[in-house]
Amino acid sequence: MRKIRIDADVESIAAEFQLELNKHKTEILQAIGELKDKFDGSHSLTRGTAAMNAVDVKKCYDYIDKLKKDYDNGSLTLMKPNDFDKTHQVYNGYLKDKELKWSVSIDGDKATPLHKRLTEAMGYQKIVRDEIYPPLMRKMGIKACVYCNANYTVSAEKGSGRGYFELDHWKPESKYPFLCTSFYNLQPCCPHCNKRKSASNKYEFLKLYEEDQNEPLDVFEFRIPRGSIVRYFNKLDTSHIKVTFKATDASLVKLRDDAEEKFGIEGIYNEHIDVIEEMLWRSKFYDNVIVRSMTWLYGKRNSIVDVARFKLGTYAGEDEIHKRPLTKMMQDIGKQIGII
Ligand SMILES: [Zn+2]
Repeated sequence: MRKIRIDADVESIAAEFQLELNKHKTEILQAIGELKDKFDGSHSLTRGTAAMNAVDVKKCYDYIDKLKKDYDNGSLTLMKPNDFDKTHQVYNGYLKDKELKWSVSIDGDKATPLHKRLTEAMGYQKIVRDEIYPPLMRKMGIKACVYCNANYTVSAEKGSGRGYFELDHWKPESKYPFLCTSFYNLQPCCPHCNKRKSASNKYEFLKLYEEDQNEPLDVFEFRIPRGSIVRYFNKLDTSHIKVTFKATDASLVKLRDDAEEKFGIEGIYNEHIDVIEEMLWRSKFYDNVIVRSMTWLYGKRNSIVDVARFKLGTYAGEDEIHKRPLTKMMQDIGKQIGII
């Protein structure tokens, strides 16, 4: 819902991520190397019922060899989003997107798509998603889905019931497996959005990390019709309150439309009109006199209470919207109705 500027704080978390990942570097390089060796010409490789031809086998070998070298020299882990596509072009010179989907059986094992074998060798799930990433995400305060901001990113694992953080690859791992453990390609999201976001090239999706200093961070905004506020206070009728989801700039309309089409943002938010109703109550209850005395007593004097947060009912800072679901909508509508 809102981008995060890559600044010194974010870079220090990313550096911590790299440090933790480096502890596993030897075992990961070994796993990638073992996978590469399966394509050295001495193994039985089949796609469907047919044996793979030597040219295709060599292409796979070269792709994995390139990946292993890049992994070893450390150029992938902290690669910035602006470099993703040109690196993808280089990798496409070895294997095309559709070739990464080849389901290959090695020495009679279960046929598995190449990209899945690569992400497994790179330790995405076991090392990154389950072990290294969760504490860093807690440190960054990202608990709400970066796509919808309506749900938490925590999910329970099938079977064990253990809670884990849901993660999405901004650039899909099926086409960009070399970025499957790259810090700036990992985006915390909710199970709903993760399931609905497909690897289709037809859609654009919010890039969480922004490296360009001039690019705006706020790309979407929520609004309710002006007249609905007056109508609400006349008859206490919420039926006129409809949440609309907009792009903040004409150049961002496609990003907005894709988010709407894939995730059904307006449909989700119009199920939360009760939250807006409470905000309207608070806008009346905390009038200027109450807020001034509250600020004097608890805010400025001894900083017990973050008055803006108390009044809004959630975090009031623009850079805090990832801390709790619905915060983006509450901040936007809070500004519209004058709470903040
Ligand atoms: Zn979501």
